[in-house]
Amino acid sequence: MSVGDVEDLVTLIRAYNPKSDSELIRRAHAYGEKMHEGQFRHSGEPYFTHPVAVAAILAEQQLDDASIVTALLHDTIEDTGSTFGEIEEKFGREIAELVDGVTKLTNLQLNSTASRQAENFRKLFIAISKDMRVILVKLADRLHNMRTITAMRPEKQVQKARETMDIYAPLAGRMGMQWMREELEDLAFKVLNPEGRASIIRRFIRLQRESGDVIHKITGDIREALDKAGVEAEVFGRAKKPYSIWRKMQEKEQSFSRLSDIYGFRVITETEDECYRVLGAIHRRWRAVPGRFKDYISQPKTNGYRSIHTTVSGRDGKRVEVQIRTRQMHEVAETGVAAHWSYRDGVRVENPFAVDPAKWIATLTERFDSGEDTDEFLEHVKLEMYADQVFCFTPKGEVVKLPRGATPLDFAYAVHTDIGDGCVGARIDGIRVPLWTRIRNGQSVEIITAEGQSPQATWLDIVATGRAKSAIRRRLREADRSRFIKLGRELARVAFEHVGRKATDKALATAARRLGLKDGDEVLARLGSAELVARDVVALLYPEAVPVADEIEVESAVVGLAHGQSFERAPCCQPVPGERIVGIAFRGHGVVIHAIDCDGLEEFAEQTERWVDLHWQPGNHPAVHTVSLDLTIANDAGVLGRICTLIGEQGANISDLEFLDRKPDFYRLIVDVDLSGVEHLHKVMTVLEADSDVATIRRLRDAGRKLPRPEEKVRSEGERDVQA
Ligand code: MN
Repeated sequence: MSVGDVEDLVTLIRAYNPKSDSELIRRAHAYGEKMHEGQFRHSGEPYFTHPVAVAAILAEQQLDDASIVTALLHDTIEDTGSTFGEIEEKFGREIAELVDGVTKLTNLQLNSTASRQAENFRKLFIAISKDMRVILVKLADRLHNMRTITAMRPEKQVQKARETMDIYAPLAGRMGMQWMREELEDLAFKVLNPEGRASIIRRFIRLQRESGDVIHKITGDIREALDKAGVEAEVFGRAKKPYSIWRKMQEKEQSFSRLSDIYGFRVITETEDECYRVLGAIHRRWRAVPGRFKDYISQPKTNGYRSIHTTVSGRDGKRVEVQIRTRQMHEVAETGVAAHWSYRDGVRVENPFAVDPAKWIATLTERFDSGEDTDEFLEHVKLEMYADQVFCFTPKGEVVKLPRGATPLDFAYAVHTDIGDGCVGARIDGIRVPLWTRIRNGQSVEIITAEGQSPQATWLDIVATGRAKSAIRRRLREADRSRFIKLGRELARVAFEHVGRKATDKALATAARRLGLKDGDEVLARLGSAELVARDVVALLYPEAVPVADEIEVESAVVGLAHGQSFERAPCCQPVPGERIVGIAFRGHGVVIHAIDCDGLEEFAEQTERWVDLHWQPGNHPAVHTVSLDLTIANDAGVLGRICTLIGEQGANISDLEFLDRKPDFYRLIVDVDLSGVEHLHKVMTVLEADSDVATIRRLRDAGRKLPRPEEKVRSEGERDVQA
């Protein structure tokens, strides 16, 4: 059909659909022709001949006006200055959305050669196409391109043929469009395996020569048998396509010698009842081949296919394959889902066997459970089934399936853990995007990696897949451990030097053995994470070296308690010796001591009988009074280690460390330091403040209440003593 033939198209449509909106068809034709003006196909023809041919393929399937207009416009958004808005304005929302759907399918980069990806591609197609007519138009588009493929460069031909074989032909089959499937397969076969196809055709011609006009003879035999039985029916015979023969040979590892491998016969009746009468007549006349009888009339396939299949030993004992079905069943068998949209005499055809695509899809999961036709692709397919998934591509065209809401980080970890760990950025469809961007169906994702990058704690909030989450957590734990080891080494060095020793590997290994730990590194990691106290490790190895200081016993540190009364330091204000304090009595629980200016005292204001007048013993207290310091320090290598060294040099012990707000440049941490008193605290804070990498430092009061900690970690004197 040439570009000017809009009236041919209109006539073709009106023949089956007199109520077709011919004006709409003419407008779409005129618009498409204008938009594609000046564009040419590889063959040299005007480009618009292609959309017109695609429209004609759909008209041959007797499809509705919307599908045909979509065919006429299917390349306008992609290849011309046209837009979704313009098409919506001129042709309405329905058609604009159909054209947009076809454009999305066209934009998929189907350049994967891995056929294991084919099923994902097909699922992707269905996920993207909200309306099955989009797939019908796309299949007709591909069919025309395959029919005219010889105009393309050879490499391009092979690529297109591969795609057709892997994706489009099976898709047509699953849509129930057998003729389309067979033609697509054969066109692709011609490109992919021209020798194989030629050898089958040669063989086929020889067999034909040997056995004469087999189709004519066998259809005659069948007609005779039916006449005898008094059944009205039409009988057709046809040669199978070379590709179907070739595939059967591959499957059964047989050379083709049987006629049933080449020819197929069909008997078309008017009623279902007649189908069984035909079957009876054929089985009376010839012997049925065991195991080849299938009744898809009483048990139709999910795509609506109904037919009786049988194979008999016909003339001269040669096998003859026969399919028996009614005219309406035949229509569904040939056009599949397309039958739902087809028109005849101006009305949508009421074919009782045509499957409503929506209902078809709804029954799929159900049928799947019963185990019927489990190989059928559409058994697994349900448009909504993919609502929670996205399919996207690697730069090489591999499909990656992710849950909806997935980000480039999920994509990176899905491809490889190393790519995830090293991710510093991403491009989606060639454009730089933030890592928290949600990936959409059909997008192509490229991950930018850099040496030395490592997973950030904030990534955990960005990713959607368990795989990415656990990989990030693992790496963060490893990173924490190596930081703890470094830190532990500093702490150990200071503590050992304090008693004139060195924290050698041997010393640490001995400590590990005595503590029942794996190795010296484990000792260091625990020191760094404050699970172990450096002073205790030193005492374990050199008990004699730890000086027994002339210190006040912890039990008698506070003056003013009743005999045998115990005390605890309040976790809210963490008072240390030298500060003014007051006690609050708890029945049976001794006394809790607070700093005199602690806000926590307010709640006891009315209960004056519980207040106990107390003060610290003057003199040297042991460094066991924990104070929380809130530090913001530069995120540079070595800073944290130096901070710990500074604290250790002041004779203070770090009993806990907690990292908050990790930022690329600075980060905040809470350091719990065990001190002897208020002077000791001032010394430690002064030394830290003087360090240029410490941005802020403050004593954290009300620690238990104000800190955004997952669980309140409160330490009392009593507990401290147990640990020591
Ligand atoms: Mn096209």
